[in-house]
Amino acid sequence: MPQITQSIERIKYHQDVPSLADAHCHLDLFDDPATVVNDAVSKGVSVIITSGGSRKGNEMTSNLAKGLNVYGVIGIDPTFAAADHEYVEQSIELIKKNVHLIGIGEIGLDVKVEDKSKPDIQKEVFMEQIDIANDLGIPVIIHSRGRMKDVIRILDEHPADRAMFHFFEGDEEQARYLAKKGHMISIPPRDSARMKRVIKEIDLTNIVAETDAPVAGKTPSDVRSVVELISSIKNIDFSEAAERVSDNVKGFFHI
Ligand SMILES: [Zn+2]
Repeated sequence: MPQITQSIERIKYHQDVPSLADAHCHLDLFDDPATVVNDAVSKGVSVIITSGGSRKGNEMTSNLAKGLNVYGVIGIDPTFAAADHEYVEQSIELIKKNVHLIGIGEIGLDVKVEDKSKPDIQKEVFMEQIDIANDLGIPVIIHSRGRMKDVIRILDEHPADRAMFHFFEGDEEQARYLAKKGHMISIPPRDSARMKRVIKEIDLTNIVAETDAPVAGKTPSDVRSVVELISSIKNIDFSEAAERVSDNVKGFFHI
């Protein structure tokens, strides 16, 4: 398997392109993650945040989160809330062993998997992991499918110190509410009218860009198209948008 060889310095030196950051993807779902990373880095993506979600995914993510470009978040997502409940605390051990693990995610609620994982279990596992993140002083990465109102209600009652809303599914009013609390809204590669309204509504300070590759985008380098969308809606240069949203990722995760 090829090694991850590129470095941020080499990219900056060789290419006059702004460096990009993919705030959320799943490197563990690729057959050859090292090649995917090298390709993305060669296209200017200097920071990649890869996400776990299950016991197995977390172990793989922990092994992938290393080098100059790849960081990871681990946790038990709603799909695995019932099956992997007992592994919630395993994240703490993995995080303590690897400085490149910098958040708990993705965690939250998912209407689609409620038959597999009863809503109460999802909620319980979600809240338990918010507490872990707050204790460790690291952010949570939120997954919500069809449950935005409930997710916001839970966070109001049971606040996370820092939260990033991965693949934001809410409307502009919810985006404004969450941004006001200092949370980060992550924009996926989906050019919809709702997404445009969300980007328009909130300040660039609260926006990051993600690919969710290979689930939504094909590879982390697809983050470029998300930054292009943000720059066109905010009516600023691509390089300024790239710099601002990349700095948001680094600031949010303390990279
Ligand atoms: Zn994801």
